Amino acid sequence: MSIKFPTNPFKIVGPQDYYKYEKTKFSEDYVGENFKSVGWNVYQPFRDKGIDLIISKYICPKGHTDLNKNLNGEKCDICKIDSVKILYFIQVKTRETKETKNKNGEVTKTTFGWTLGTKDFETDPRKLFVMFSNNPDVFLIISINDYLNLYLKTKKPNYFQEYSFRKGNDRDHSISYNYDENMWYFSSKHTKLSINEYLNLEGLKKIHKYTDINNFQKLSDEIVNFKNKYFLTFKKTKTFKINDNEFDEMNKEILKLITKEKKYFLDLKKSNYEKLIKLKQIKMGKGKEKSIFDSIINYFVDPESIKPGN
Ligand SMILES: [Zn+2]
Repeated sequence: MSIKFPTNPFKIVGPQDYYKYEKTKFSEDYVGENFKSVGWNVYQPFRDKGIDLIISKYICPKGHTDLNKNLNGEKCDICKIDSVKILYFIQVKTRETKETKNKNGEVTKTTFGWTLGTKDFETDPRKLFVMFSNNPDVFLIISINDYLNLYLKTKKPNYFQEYSFRKGNDRDHSISYNYDENMWYFSSKHTKLSINEYLNLEGLKKIHKYTDINNFQKLSDEIVNFKNKYFLTFKKTKTFKINDNEFDEMNKEILKLITKEKKYFLDLKKSNYEKLIKLKQIKMGKGKEKSIFDSIINYFVDPESIKPGN
């Protein structure tokens, strides 16, 4: 069995032809067609909420199904047990890599820069990041758990505590390809890790497996623990114009919120709403209060009133 993955499903055009105008659509189709070619059912969500593709297939839970096969609900030919459905949510990141040349003008390294924000880290082990680059033509297929672990292993989980990550505009350059070694790396200041195990067919093999409910729970807990530790506290960087004590206080206050029950947030919402009503009673507010009120009230605008023609 020889499988080629990925291949260019659109033979007469190259990805670079689309980079400028249709990059997103092109790359999602490119990735989707490739997963289809190895037996996955591929779906696109109606609304773009960060997930670009949903893929699913049926396989033998004991691992008897070939990498490019889909049992489509049938029993396994080998052990005769029922096949199971596996499913993933894919976020595609397409980048033209940036080349580094040596003094002879030879390309030695190419770097893949991408941006992710907090909203891209759903607490769901079925989330996959597919990094797609046409130069060289590769897919890196990395599950959310493995992705977070790469930051732990390279000793830079602090990345997620930084203000720029929260704002969603911190471009990450940790992934690069070394031409001499024919190796993809995830690196930090401290350490360099080969990530060839996520590359193309190898990456595909990693997701071609069944995760039972216990393991699913374990992987979900792993994401929650990581997020509690690194997403919910800030690391002090130059962006913060407050002193160390104030900074510690701020982190403590944030951590307190984790333990709060749903009722706390409902009460908070209620009291904010009451404040708003009070503001309205001061004759729709005056001066500064009026501008706050006008701003808040925008959130309560009835969509009927903003329909064309009104
Ligand atoms: Zn089987």
